[in-house]
Amino acid sequence: MPTVTDQHKRPLRDLRLSVTDRCNFRCVYCMPKEVFGAKFHFLPKHDLLTFDELTRTVRIFSQLGVKKVRITGGEPLLRQDLDVLIRQLSEVPGIEDIAMTTNGYFLDRRRAMLLRQAGLKRVTISLDALTDEVFKAVNDVGVPVGKILSAIDAAIFAGLGPVKVNMVVKRDVNDQQIIPMARHFRHSGVVLRFIEYMDVGNTNGWRLDDVVPASEILAILQQEWPLEPLAPNHPGEVARRFRYQDGGGEIGIIASVTQPFCHHCSRIRLSPEGRLYTCLFGSEGFDLRHLLREERWDDAQIENALQLLWQRRTDQYSLLRSQATSSAPKVEMSHIGG
Ligand code: SAM
Ligand code: SF4
Ligand code: SF4
Repeated sequence: MPTVTDQHKRPLRDLRLSVTDRCNFRCVYCMPKEVFGAKFHFLPKHDLLTFDELTRTVRIFSQLGVKKVRITGGEPLLRQDLDVLIRQLSEVPGIEDIAMTTNGYFLDRRRAMLLRQAGLKRVTISLDALTDEVFKAVNDVGVPVGKILSAIDAAIFAGLGPVKVNMVVKRDVNDQQIIPMARHFRHSGVVLRFIEYMDVGNTNGWRLDDVVPASEILAILQQEWPLEPLAPNHPGEVARRFRYQDGGGEIGIIASVTQPFCHHCSRIRLSPEGRLYTCLFGSEGFDLRHLLREERWDDAQIENALQLLWQRRTDQYSLLRSQATSSAPKVEMSHIGG
């Protein structure tokens, strides 16, 4: 099958499906309470793509060379019977890897096993601190650390690994937690990934001063434990990988702000109501749901439309980032899923 490439010769490889815009957390860097409060209008159910529509979409994308799918949100485990969707997707020919990013709140051993049996291969669980005080200040709904550590154990128990943990680092909020988090996950088999705080959306009040650059994160870690770089696992991998020289395992750093990786960006993202974004920092998206719900569009025609969408793609937001781009209208992280 010929690879579809965009205007910068980047192939289309990964599809990220945001299955809901709702979340039970209000992480300060993603869904600040002041904006996502009681009066916020989330999508009504009939606007969400159904499992069949999502499966059809994945089938069409697999014809264009997509092999990896990641389920995200909002909080994907808020979507009922998610295992049914995973099973449907795992039956699509050509799809080799199905992963999920979750805050872990609803992940216990039973649910983790159900998802694994349905065909989920890996999970990434978000956790930003190891002390309750800091973690509660980040999630802003009072969830303690222990709840998420049990989710990580459940994921390991179910074989959803190697389990990754995402830690978004925000200056003066949780940067003091870099060492405690690293210490906790060393020798555990869990891959901790430090993520630079990004200017996704328009609601989190992002300021460059709040970003702890990857170089600083690395220097903090190196003072405690010498690290050495590792080769990427696959082309287009966004995390830079390192291993502890003393055999303590592996970490990753995602430096989207200070070391943009647009040159290798091979991802397309689908919002819960079926809009496709060729960049995390897009604003409008392409209305795929409209095509999916109109009978006159068959799979081959939709495939052509999607191929054209990717071929026209020129996005490289992070390479061009400036104060002006930061305040331009952008889709929210909790809508598109990271
Ligand atoms: N709710 C799930 C979770 O938190 O894992 C999945 C969706 S969440 C939007 C996906 C990832 O994006 C999480 O790891 C989260 O920490 C990260 N994230 C959210 N806002 C971010 C921001 N402003 N900068 C960097 N990463 C962010
Ligand atoms: Fe919810 Fe994930 Fe955003 Fe936190 S990062 S508010 S858990 S969607
Ligand atoms: Fe890809 Fe856009 Fe991020 Fe660049 S800014 S890596 S094009 S999603």
